[in-house]
Amino acid sequence: MQISNTGTDATKPSPASRKIDPLTDDWLWQLKNSITTLEEVEEFLDIRFEPAERMLLEQTLEKFPLSVTPYYLSLVETEDFRNDPVFMQAVPCADELIVQEHDMADPLAEDTDSPVPLITHRYPDRVLLRISNTCSMYCRHCTRKRTVGDTDSLPMPDEIEVALDYIRSTKGVRDVLLSGGDPLMLSDSRLDQILTALDEIDHVEVVRLGTRMPAVLPQRITEELCTMLSTHQPLWLNTHFNHPNAITPESKTALRRLADAGLPLGNQSVLLAGVNDCPRIMRRLVERLVANRVRPYYLYQCDLSEGLSNFRTPVSKGIEIIENLIGHTSGFAVPRYVIDAPHGGGKIPVMPNCIVSWAPDRVVLRNYEGVICTYQEPVDYDRSQCDHECTTCDLTGPPPSKRTIHGVAGLMRDNNDTDALVPEDNERHGRRDDEA
Ligand SMILES: *Cc1c(COP(=O)(O)O)cnc(C)c1O
Ligand code: SF4
Repeated sequence: MQISNTGTDATKPSPASRKIDPLTDDWLWQLKNSITTLEEVEEFLDIRFEPAERMLLEQTLEKFPLSVTPYYLSLVETEDFRNDPVFMQAVPCADELIVQEHDMADPLAEDTDSPVPLITHRYPDRVLLRISNTCSMYCRHCTRKRTVGDTDSLPMPDEIEVALDYIRSTKGVRDVLLSGGDPLMLSDSRLDQILTALDEIDHVEVVRLGTRMPAVLPQRITEELCTMLSTHQPLWLNTHFNHPNAITPESKTALRRLADAGLPLGNQSVLLAGVNDCPRIMRRLVERLVANRVRPYYLYQCDLSEGLSNFRTPVSKGIEIIENLIGHTSGFAVPRYVIDAPHGGGKIPVMPNCIVSWAPDRVVLRNYEGVICTYQEPVDYDRSQCDHECTTCDLTGPPPSKRTIHGVAGLMRDNNDTDALVPEDNERHGRRDDEA
């Protein structure tokens, strides 16, 4: 069911002839004619790698395959190709071979937090399901370099069935994220089957698709695909644009079709050194996205996967970018900047600080212009309508047994006995008599 775009095909035309029409509308042609070797990159872009550099680049390909569609590679501006944002995302650089002290193969513990193969169950109410492990293009900054692109570990139909069974039997799951690889590497009919299976599970309220296709292979977003997807509402789609250069007439058509099919669209960008670590570039990107009905959802701090050190920026860079967006552009164009916590802690939002100080009767705030103002706290605030008995309250929806609030939010609940969260190996507690 999965369409493979790796390996060489004897019938493949030469890169030069592929250049004739890199924008061809046929996505299978694009996949079949993907550029997968350094020679093909050189020929396609009419560039040359240095011999020493080339040897290192060959080594990067052993770790993570090279594959890019003619369409996406045609977006490279070749005068200064090494600094071109599209080139940097698609073509390896020797720095990928660097493994730093804190790098990890699976920094987000996706394999550990996995009750059955293909599923990562991190948050109580939602799961990630990897239904594909190939992509139309392999992003050099991919966080799942450890598995993506490895055609020996394609998700098997029976594994997907086991994963669906897990979702069927885990009643707390109300949100399923279909991910990969790229789920749109599956055929329309296979995808239709999986979406139908999810539609039939009563407790699954929403399904999301994470796909890079609108950015790297917009031809995949056919009218037929959109018609099929529109029958599986509520279905959300998150795509992955990192730079305004990828918003082209072709990708606009893809986004229009998806939005017209009734899918709410979001975008997840990764903050990448040399690609988009600039407030002006990010502002242009988010404004172009909203103009195409895509809501910027997350801006990810580049994680600690092995071989990504060349792409990492300091966290301050992301905060600077958000500072340059809040107030300066439409509120719904501002993504949430997050650090996906190592060891599976999930996404932690990071924001510029806007609370300057706080007294019992007022908060001192600053706005985007630097104006400092006060907000007077209410003097007679009384939660008198609330008897603090969430268990009997009919306003709060399902009883707390189903929607228990954990973590810091739990500390704020009156009907929760926990008043502190203490790490298991807390030394001070270890010294106490009763716990020794
Ligand atoms: C990102 C992610 C989710 C979804 O998180 P949201 O904040 O709801 O978008 C779910 N599971 C895993 C493992 C994730 O990485
Ligand atoms: S599309 Fe996503 S999964 Fe595929 S290589 Fe890019 S970042 Fe990785």
